[in-house]
Amino acid sequence: MVSYSMTEELIIKKIEQEKEGYVEFLRKLVQSDSINPPGNENNVALLIEEYLKGIGIKTEIFPFGNNRANLVAYLNDTFDGRNLLFNGHMDTVPPGSEQDWKYPPLSAMIKRNKLIFGRGTTDMKSGLAAMVIALKILKELKLDVSGNLILNAVADEETGGKFGTGWCVENPLKEIKCDFAIIGEATALNPFPKGIFVGEKGHLQVKIITNGISGHSGMPAMSKNAIYMMSEIIENLDKLNDYIPKTEPPMSMDKLKNLVSVVFPSEEIFERILKEQPDLLSIFQSLTTFSKAVTMIKGGIKENIIPDLCEAVLDIRLLPKQRSETIMNALQKLIEEDLGYIVKDQSNATSKEVFVELEIIRDGEGSYWSQWEDSVDLQEFYDLVESVYEKKPYYLLLPASADAHYLRNDGFCPQTIIFGPGQGRTAHAVNEYIEILDFIRAIKVYAIFAYRFLNKK
Ligand SMILES: [Zn+2]
Repeated sequence: MVSYSMTEELIIKKIEQEKEGYVEFLRKLVQSDSINPPGNENNVALLIEEYLKGIGIKTEIFPFGNNRANLVAYLNDTFDGRNLLFNGHMDTVPPGSEQDWKYPPLSAMIKRNKLIFGRGTTDMKSGLAAMVIALKILKELKLDVSGNLILNAVADEETGGKFGTGWCVENPLKEIKCDFAIIGEATALNPFPKGIFVGEKGHLQVKIITNGISGHSGMPAMSKNAIYMMSEIIENLDKLNDYIPKTEPPMSMDKLKNLVSVVFPSEEIFERILKEQPDLLSIFQSLTTFSKAVTMIKGGIKENIIPDLCEAVLDIRLLPKQRSETIMNALQKLIEEDLGYIVKDQSNATSKEVFVELEIIRDGEGSYWSQWEDSVDLQEFYDLVESVYEKKPYYLLLPASADAHYLRNDGFCPQTIIFGPGQGRTAHAVNEYIEILDFIRAIKVYAIFAYRFLNKK
């Protein structure tokens, strides 16, 4: 546990006093449609700009596409001291069928004064709002800090991040020496308290298209059935595991268990919880292995025509350091050498040609901060989370993928962590919600950590 300085007590007092206004700001963000696709993140960017207006914070909006935008805001004008980056995405996934929701997904309905329901509450407008508010607090209190806090609100995370964080790192942030970064995605994995994630998995999606020859279904021998071709590929997919060179996971199963066990009073209790909750074990397993699943399939145009086209999507989760080229090569080897089909582009194919096309539709690397155990800043962050949340957090890897690879992998800021309010399991689900207390605590963590971090030389 850490005790707070007088200035930090001042920050906490201000947060307690202005709580209601913070909740209203969050609700506005949730009510603002930034469903991706298509995005419309500019709606959220304008709200953030408005919120930070008139107190001396420089805010820049970078529009692109149709009503889409990224935003960067700075606490100070110089970058000579230590620079801390807060990153959060403005887009949300679609809400799905509105009838399945208890309250309309963009209503940001408050229940029992404790919970706010709505699409994007957990993923991740509460994390984003908390970061914006923390920046505002530091400016309003006119705290004497030497470094700079940079807020980066991004578009496109839910569809790969290339136009969001990927673009920002190459453009407005390019010249900044970033010393530490936090991405505010939800990091509580039920039934555990808060996690601090130092790595993430990669995400590769490949569309497989089998091209056969159509014909009369009464004379199937004269054609080549694209659905049968696809089914051959799917049946043989497990061979991929043999064709992909072994990649060591960043942490072993034992290490992962060890990291999480610190939040339990004893090893026995932790083991018992693992037994009672097989889902947890699956999370650990997913963090140590590569995985694949066919998630969509489509083929055929009429009951009595042999289909000449079948499409399937293969969703692959990579370990950090596992390259997508390796997977693509293995897939090609399987289709060409084991099944005897040619893999090629549609562009150079003639009609009546039997072949398979592979099209990458999403390609996000995994990432891992390998030096995290040596970081004094991270240790301090951990202690602060423990104080504010009144519970020990744990270090882990994110079982899904986020934007961290854009920050970590090309050397912009390897010391990037993911930490934010919300329960991971409610993200992308119906009746997504955020606990107001969790949101307020996140504001405290971000604001106090920023204050401490920027004061160090
Ligand atoms: Zn997210």
